[in-house]
Amino acid sequence: MTTTTPPQECVLKWCNEAGEHRTHRQYVMSLIAWHRTWLVGINVVQTDDGPLHVELTATTRWSAPATITLQPDEAEAVGQALIEAATRAAR
Ligand SMILES: [Zn+2]
Repeated sequence: MTTTTPPQECVLKWCNEAGEHRTHRQYVMSLIAWHRTWLVGINVVQTDDGPLHVELTATTRWSAPATITLQPDEAEAVGQALIEAATRAAR
């Protein structure tokens, strides 16, 4: 099998992945959290011809990453809940 896509470049302009890949990702945010124990990542993802969705990953130095796949409206609900919780926690 050969590919027409150069290794460094994806046909999708928004995609940040390099090399050959089947899952397209745009890296939106990556954060080291809670006393440098957690790495949290948020990406926009598309696999093959599936719909665009949001991927939330959380990992520690000692564990495999947990990946949560969300539809856009679900991601929005999580985001709003995070803002609400952060507001309450900061009081
Ligand atoms: Zn891509």
